[in-house]
Amino acid sequence: MEARLLRYYPGRGIRLVKGYMQYVWDDRGKRYLDAHTGHGAAFLGHSNPAIVDRVKRQLGELVVCSLSFDCYAREEAVRALSRIAPSHLDSVAFANTGSEAVETALKMAWAYTGRRALVAFRGSFHGRTLAALSATWNPRYKAGFPVLGDVVFLEYNGDPGEVERGIKRLEGRLAAVIVEPVLGEGGVVPARRDFMRAVADAASDAGALLIIDEVQTGLGRTGRLWAHEYYGVEPDILVVGKALGGGIPVSAVLARGEVAASLEGGRHGSTHAGNPVAMAAVSAAVDVILGDDVPAKAAAAGSLLKSALESELDGARLVREVRGLGLMIGVDVRRDPTPILKCMQDRGVLALRAGVSVVRLLPPYMVTPSDVEVAASAVEACIPS
Ligand SMILES: *Cc1c(COP(=O)(O)O)cnc(C)c1O
Repeated sequence: MEARLLRYYPGRGIRLVKGYMQYVWDDRGKRYLDAHTGHGAAFLGHSNPAIVDRVKRQLGELVVCSLSFDCYAREEAVRALSRIAPSHLDSVAFANTGSEAVETALKMAWAYTGRRALVAFRGSFHGRTLAALSATWNPRYKAGFPVLGDVVFLEYNGDPGEVERGIKRLEGRLAAVIVEPVLGEGGVVPARRDFMRAVADAASDAGALLIIDEVQTGLGRTGRLWAHEYYGVEPDILVVGKALGGGIPVSAVLARGEVAASLEGGRHGSTHAGNPVAMAAVSAAVDVILGDDVPAKAAAAGSLLKSALESELDGARLVREVRGLGLMIGVDVRRDPTPILKCMQDRGVLALRAGVSVVRLLPPYMVTPSDVEVAASAVEACIPS
């Protein structure tokens, strides 16, 4: 008997057979503009030739190389990440998924500070493994699982004074504050500047580390290389994933040297972390990001998409708000977006939900003005009037 696949998510009813840059095709030959991109993983395009070539070459050279050994592919990836890392973050740890990178970041914070408590925010999403899940807000994701108790949730975009008091209350036992610059899964909500600055200042005053989770926002998606640049704050630990390998599963933690060093000496490990094929994908991805001006292109395409949506949806009764940064855009439709997503799919546009009422668009950076028109008119046509 054939095993039954545990799918986790509701099925979309189509089988994808091919992807190229911003498009995917199903088994009937129908083409879709992809603003789902596997939860944002294909931000650099499906089968981007620059990434495919590099990965193919690596597959013929060396596929396995434990962190106990050196290899060129990993040395190159470390050099590549150094080109895009904030200059004060001089150490890198690799992992395989976003959740695992969040776990690594949290372990660093616990090991470095010797403290246990965490602050996270309502609406946050940091992953499905247990420590990452503990810092995730959605109670439905946590129900029935033994999550960590030492996590205090504060209001996202809450009043700066409240945030400061909430963090100060944990002084002496707070290891870290973990925050997304734009809530992704939680509804595409950009942080307000005064909120983000209060979070950073209060964490520092409490002697706690600031972990910025840019698994979804990073690598140019929001129109800057890192979304936290918009806020003038400096993370102690920066978590990166999703698009980092051009679609190949790989994630990374960038950290201050002394913070990262706390996990040395056998305190952490991973079989596949730093895998040479994933490393080749990272080097190629960074070449694309810098060589093709990805943040600037995402900023330009993102502002086109946002204004196209705003004008298409002007006066739409159901639409509460169009919001986002760069090519991370949400349309809040005040209701379950599932039927809208289905209708968009029928019209050849893939998107995904966020929160309980948001149509989320995460297209690749190379979307053209005509793709943008197609996406915006599909959203308009599918929102009931
Ligand atoms: C997707 C996501 C994660 C988890 O990444 P996985 O690769 O699914 O484990 C963590 N944080 C944020 C902000 C994300 O968007």
